[in-house]
Amino acid sequence: MNIHEYQARELFEKFGVATSHGRVAFTPEEAQQTAQGLAGKKIVVKAQIHAGGRGKGHFTNGFKGGVHLCNTPEEAGQLASQMLGQTLVTHQTGPEGKVVNKVLVVEAVDISRELYFAILLDRATSTPVIIASTEGGMDIEAVAEKSPEKIFREFVHPLIGLQPYQTRKIAHALGLTGPLLGQASKLFTALYKLFIARDCSQIEVNPLVVTPDGQLLALDAKFNFDDNSLYRQADIVAMRDKTEEDPREVAASEFNLNYIGLDGNIACLVNGAGLAMSTMDIIQYCGGKPANFLDVGGGASKEQVAAAFRIILSDPNVQGILVNIFGGIMDCNVIATGIVAAARETGLSIPLVVRLEGNNVAAGKQTLAESGLTIISGNDLADAAQKIVQAVKAA
Ligand code: GDP
Ligand code: MG
Repeated sequence: MNIHEYQARELFEKFGVATSHGRVAFTPEEAQQTAQGLAGKKIVVKAQIHAGGRGKGHFTNGFKGGVHLCNTPEEAGQLASQMLGQTLVTHQTGPEGKVVNKVLVVEAVDISRELYFAILLDRATSTPVIIASTEGGMDIEAVAEKSPEKIFREFVHPLIGLQPYQTRKIAHALGLTGPLLGQASKLFTALYKLFIARDCSQIEVNPLVVTPDGQLLALDAKFNFDDNSLYRQADIVAMRDKTEEDPREVAASEFNLNYIGLDGNIACLVNGAGLAMSTMDIIQYCGGKPANFLDVGGGASKEQVAAAFRIILSDPNVQGILVNIFGGIMDCNVIATGIVAAARETGLSIPLVVRLEGNNVAAGKQTLAESGLTIISGNDLADAAQKIVQAVKAA
């Protein structure tokens, strides 16, 4: 799960991470009012979407940039009115972009240096890792590619936690000395506490800035949370903004389905994550493109199967469906019944290939045969994949 920058800043304030002050606004009037409250200071107006690269992004109406500095509350209101309701495209949103429904109005600070600081989980060492760089404010992937020596890594033992000697080491790597050293240690420690306490899988602060009067401040924040921990993070769940998520994935999560939307045209409905991945591979191998990953799991009910089918069919890109079930715990007839129910309800009009094998397969095949639906039967995975790719090409 992700959150917006203005919500990330609320977490910063709770955990004592130094940041600049501002408020979220939903209308240009609100933006102007908030800017008035920051009397006399320069102002930054920032589009709030679940994606980075806003500063260098562009709106589909031609307006450039999702982060703007200005001098007066009137200008802040005007900037908000140019961004709100518009679609912002950045290198992280994909070409379709994201609609901006709120902006953050925040006091602008003067910047002497822009740094990069992130905490992630490192799969290789199974520990949190801190990534820091003096090259803040830019695309860190580009820094890693062009000048990898400018990326500093510090691994943190999960049981011992971030140690003072480590925060000093990171501060040193970032050139934070003198009075900034103390601020850096405090800020890094607070961020690490936040990372652990809220079950984050990523916190990225880009930029972390040094101001001319010697303050260290987090000016941007991107958070990812471990979805498996959300059951114990009620205040994080309360920050969820479903309008930022793929509507297909939101619908799937309501039925406890493991669904990930992709951009192909052949939908798949599979039981088991490994089988789902090999199904996507073989569709690709046969010259097709999968429209999704979907694992209905081992113990899916016919309601879940029907919901899965409806989600698949609600995707306008889907031109064919491949159902690939290897029933172990899963009863093939439950799958068949769910498919028939959903196909009848939605008036299925695209090719459907079904490969059923295993537990109660005979009953499942009978349910499909007696349904009167046009279903192409696949003998095995390769046969089924070839048939759906051909059927979609022919249609
Ligand atoms: P992103 O483009 O989505 O990563 O959004 P950021 O919050 O990182 O803002 C983009 C850039 O705007 C930053 O890298 C800064 O250079 C600039 N910026 C953001 N806030 C301020 C501010 O308070 N003062 C100044 N001078 N620049 C800012
Ligand atoms: Mg940034």
